[in-house]
Amino acid sequence: MGYESEYKRILNKLFAARVRDLVSLIGKNKPGKPLEITRDKLDEYIEKLKELVESAIGKELLNEELDTAKDHHKWLIKGRGVEARIEEFNNWYKENFGNDSNCVYMYWAEGDKCIYVGRGTSGGQRPASHLVDVRFQNAKWLEIYTFGGPTLLHKIECMATHLYDPSLNKVASSRYERDKSCPLCIRYKIIEDELNAIFR
Ligand SMILES: [Zn+2]
Repeated sequence: MGYESEYKRILNKLFAARVRDLVSLIGKNKPGKPLEITRDKLDEYIEKLKELVESAIGKELLNEELDTAKDHHKWLIKGRGVEARIEEFNNWYKENFGNDSNCVYMYWAEGDKCIYVGRGTSGGQRPASHLVDVRFQNAKWLEIYTFGGPTLLHKIECMATHLYDPSLNKVASSRYERDKSCPLCIRYKIIEDELNAIFR
């Protein structure tokens, strides 16, 4: 089943449960009760709906933003020892991005697993700062997109975080502030608010 039809199927199922008693009023039988949806069950449905939205449109929305990048390159992490790595990186950054200062970056490990998504406004400084972190030791690639201004960085970072599910961002997720203009966050909030209001 496609994402959209699965999404609609779940919503229809939820609403049918909610109005079951109302529907029964038109018949001559004693009115029934609305079908009980437990808190846990509702949360499960909300998570599922959010996942379906992300699967259906997340990649396309993110790619639309990434397509507006000024420049985009991937660096195979190399250099023996932290200092050598940072020097290699700084040279590579200068060569490929010049004086570009606004960026969104991703650290990738073996098997195309994204381990971290971040953003910076001071050139290679912020992405390079993780090269000293032992938790980034298994990183193989550092991918960088630079942008003309800082306005969209947080939004793009937020979208990429939803989509790539980076393991090291998760550790800090309680501190991670979502971006208010992120189209996925906006949709998630509507799903949560609406369903919580209907089934409160
Ligand atoms: Zn978001």
